[in-house]
Amino acid sequence: MSKTLQAIRGMNDILPEQTPTWRYLENTLAELLDGYGYQEIRLPILEFTELFARGIGEGTDVVDKEMYTFLDRNEESLTLRPEGTASCVRAMLEHGLIGGGQVQKLWYAGPMFRYEKPQKGRYRQFHQIGVEVFNLPGPDIDAELIVLTWRLWQKLGLADSVTLQLNSLGSSEARARYRDALVAYLQERYDLLDEDSQRRLTTNPLRILDSKNGGTQALLVDAPTLHDYLDEESVAHFEGLKARLDAVGIRYEINQKLVRGLDYYGRTVFEWVTDKLGAQGTVCAGGRYDGLVSQFGGKPTPGVGFAMGVERLVLLLETLGLVPEELNTPADIYICAFGEPAELAALALAERLRDALPGLRLLVNAAAGSFKSQFKKADKSGARYALILGDDELAKRVVGCKPLRDDSEQQSIAWDALAEHLAARLKRA
Ligand code: ATP
Ligand code: MG
Repeated sequence: MSKTLQAIRGMNDILPEQTPTWRYLENTLAELLDGYGYQEIRLPILEFTELFARGIGEGTDVVDKEMYTFLDRNEESLTLRPEGTASCVRAMLEHGLIGGGQVQKLWYAGPMFRYEKPQKGRYRQFHQIGVEVFNLPGPDIDAELIVLTWRLWQKLGLADSVTLQLNSLGSSEARARYRDALVAYLQERYDLLDEDSQRRLTTNPLRILDSKNGGTQALLVDAPTLHDYLDEESVAHFEGLKARLDAVGIRYEINQKLVRGLDYYGRTVFEWVTDKLGAQGTVCAGGRYDGLVSQFGGKPTPGVGFAMGVERLVLLLETLGLVPEELNTPADIYICAFGEPAELAALALAERLRDALPGLRLLVNAAAGSFKSQFKKADKSGARYALILGDDELAKRVVGCKPLRDDSEQQSIAWDALAEHLAARLKRA
């Protein structure tokens, strides 16, 4: 027996019943980003492996365990992008768009690839919408990024379902001093650490702070805290950010253990988290990465950004029943025609209606059928009106206009008056 073909584990089809929610989210965000002056950039899905090794950093989970890497026919090592920031920086440098101090406010959307353990809200191909800003060093722009995500939650009806976690990681010097103190503290308690954390003590000790292990978390209660080591400038930057969030009325929780998975962050880091999705609760995460551009050989260039997980946001909208109802009805009008002469007239009439009413969602019955079967299809389409065209209507140059969603009477409308008749009725809803 032949094996049925299947998609790769953790790589999902997004089926027609789901795409309206995706588009709703994507369009809402694109419109919002327009309103704040962000420009879209489209980046390749494949990059040289070195880009991510250098950008994200060896010793991170993403680079060490999660990348889809292969040799192409030319024996070059390529990687399916696991995130967007490194590509974005690469593109900026390659096209000379940030080296002269130019401000860039960018966004991108698309699939990312990580070899993770698939589960609800965690996939191997997943989608992000990301934002990156270059050459603005101050807390004002960090605040703007948070403010615009907050506006998105409001637009989507999610404001009460997400909370903001905020932290400052300080300068790289401050982080190094803190790292030494943390390592010294944990080294004395090495045997009590979980295995992962023991390994991280040498590779990436700050990541131990967000260990999920209860024993390790208990040890951390009395560990040195990051904010005792922050440099003065980072403290001022953090105060500036908090003052701006306070001014707008955005609530946040300071979480000194929020360190983020990727290596390149410094100063501001933040996550929007929900408790409605189980373990995969972070729907948007970001921070400042002033050191990244120089890591790629560019001039020191301030950068700050975030990425949101589209699958998690779609799940959240579905879970909370926040998908607008009309997204699920593909049609406003359904035209039923009986007999070939009526079918020809129906097609021509449909095109006239599309000209007169831009944006009209109109289905023309296909494959003929009895009265009963065409009405059944009209009803199932979700259309508000069925237009009926048979030999009688054709002779009189009228259509029968039958309301499908209420009990009002069917009316006979002249072809020339039809667009106006429908416009008035469809607007009222
Ligand atoms: P997590 O801690 O959940 O693994 P992360 O720190 O690896 O997240 P980022 O690299 O910051 O995540 O990506 C930003 C956002 O992209 C996440 O907050 C999440 O919403 C989404 N995301 C990341 N990895 C996945 C995945 N494998 N499947 C679905 N969404 C993801
Ligand atoms: Mg991850």
